[in-house]
Amino acid sequence: MQTPRTIAIFGATGSIGRSAIEVAVASEKRQKVVALSGHSHLELLLRQAQLLKPRWVIATNLQKAKAFDFSTLPPETELLLGEESLNKIAQHPEVDLVLTAIVGSAGLQSTLSAIEGGKIVAIANKEPLVMAGPIVTEKARRTGATLLPVDSEHSAIFQAMKSGRKEEVAKIILTASGGPFRNCSKKDLSKVTIEEALDHPTWKMGSKITIDSATMMNKALEIIEARWLFNLPAEKIEAVIHPQSVIHSFVEFFDGSVIAQLSPPDMKLPIQYAFDYPDRKEGVAKKVDWSTAFSFDFFPPDSDRFPALRLGHEVAKAGGTAGAVLNAANEVAVEQFLSGSMAFDQIVPTCEAILKNHPFEKNPSLDTIIKLDRWARCELGPQTT
Ligand code: NAD
Ligand code: MG
Repeated sequence: MQTPRTIAIFGATGSIGRSAIEVAVASEKRQKVVALSGHSHLELLLRQAQLLKPRWVIATNLQKAKAFDFSTLPPETELLLGEESLNKIAQHPEVDLVLTAIVGSAGLQSTLSAIEGGKIVAIANKEPLVMAGPIVTEKARRTGATLLPVDSEHSAIFQAMKSGRKEEVAKIILTASGGPFRNCSKKDLSKVTIEEALDHPTWKMGSKITIDSATMMNKALEIIEARWLFNLPAEKIEAVIHPQSVIHSFVEFFDGSVIAQLSPPDMKLPIQYAFDYPDRKEGVAKKVDWSTAFSFDFFPPDSDRFPALRLGHEVAKAGGTAGAVLNAANEVAVEQFLSGSMAFDQIVPTCEAILKNHPFEKNPSLDTIIKLDRWARCELGPQTT
């Protein structure tokens, strides 16, 4: 029998992290969770540790961790505090695979550490690729780390790409649900409330990505993510609205064949695909029910009402520092919307204005990227968290 693959889940208490634990529990002979991290929901992190008895638990928010009683952690589990501990575990010889499920730029350093350690890196946390795509992929090339997409669209493309050679790909088409405001007029978009924006029609996700889906900034970030992950020019990346969220993306080859990957909207499938890769095993994700009638719809996206898509293409084309600035501006704008200080329809124009004003560099170092991430945050004024 094979020894189980050892897995570190960074961001275990979030939506992806919780799904990943379900997958790992259902396939415990193939995967052993050896590390879990959480930032704020320490009650949940403790319960997860009691269930899985990992070798390490990492509480990244120092202030909260110091005030929390971890005395009921399993005796075999070592408690580590602070974000720095992620870097140590990301490179530990006893870890085979790191699932990056932290939200936003907070996951950048630990993603880079896992790649530096030559690990299998299952990437749910798309923002590091948006911020520093060429640095991330070049590091993986140098260290031999395997990058496996967990974002459902990118997992679909990764799978569909296996139908032909990379040089034979004409384009990729990312599907988008269109979010809760797919049919809203521009006037209605100016009145969107926080509750309405958090109510996604097909996916249950963390709050940041749910707002990104509603503005369609999520698709913009995914266009940039695909640009770097698959090393495709922006011109070969398109998006189509598919409200059912069952077809997760398409790859079109030169001969006109279009290959898709389908499954009900459930992140457990792309997580399991990455955990078991290159094998495919019986899994816990929902399956398509072929005994009932169903149909699929597709609509071209409307970039007049949802300008984020145009922005995503522009940033994917520009490269350099544009991704980091767009990402930082968006993270702050979303926080401000969620705290009630920015209107929904101002999120994307605000990002665009910051992007236009920034001192663009074509081949930035990681230091420059981090500096411009901070600059963009300051441009948006005092932060709420
Ligand atoms: P979430 O908000 O539900 O969970 C985020 C996790 O990150 C939590 O465990 C939290 O404790 C941790 N975290 C937050 N701030 C942190 C910090 N400063 N330092 C360390 N850890 C921190 O988010 P989610 O929906 O699970 O999304 C996670 C990532 O996966 C995002 O990048 C998102 O874009 C991507 N993703 C999510 C989905 C989904 O269905 N939820 C799908 C595709 C991609
Ligand atoms: Mg996605």
